[in-house]
Amino acid sequence: MKILLIEDEPAIAKIVSSALRYERMSVDIARCGKAGLRLAVANKYDLIILDYRLPDKNGDEVCTQLRSANFDLPIIILSAIFDSENKVKMLDLGADDYITKPFELTELLARIRAALRKHKIEFGTILSYDDLRMDLKKHSVERQGNKIKLRDKEIRILEYMMRHAEQVLTREMILSYAWGPNTERFTNVVDVHVHHLRDKVDKPFGIPMIQTVNNVGYKLSK
Ligand code: CA
Repeated sequence: MKILLIEDEPAIAKIVSSALRYERMSVDIARCGKAGLRLAVANKYDLIILDYRLPDKNGDEVCTQLRSANFDLPIIILSAIFDSENKVKMLDLGADDYITKPFELTELLARIRAALRKHKIEFGTILSYDDLRMDLKKHSVERQGNKIKLRDKEIRILEYMMRHAEQVLTREMILSYAWGPNTERFTNVVDVHVHHLRDKVDKPFGIPMIQTVNNVGYKLSK
């Protein structure tokens, strides 16, 4: 689960981001609206937490820009402004929720879960790494928003790499994950499948992510 936190107050950014990381979500922090929009365009996030008062733009502007650029991910507003007029405005602009400061972290986490549920993204069913995304329920893979057709074993290998991104995986580890621990197959079957994966997942997008680690195996890395 990848979250973008747009928040200029360092103390709040720190508390919220560590709580989210503790819940095993990955968090990027932007300190102003412009930086937030830049990150939102460059990465694939599952949810955005947006502070209302930012140094350069207000939350309404950022929210409007995201929605008009067709970003349909959940947006949760954090705001010190209590009045319902502002809440109504933000919800009408496309925010999914509005939380007033100060707030309890447990409540924020619960609202994040609710917003994700609403958007039918359940914890653990979506894997994402950089611009690569896998829906384990639907058995589908996307890169940069483009659907990629993969065979079952290719999905299984890629899933393993995504779950252990940035880690070196030996051919034996990959073989055992994708074919089961007692397989009689040789590890070169892994090389063949990784070759096909590269053709589908890396080649069309110009930026290779499946790296060969000499004499050891493979690694998914930016
Ligand atoms: Ca602020």
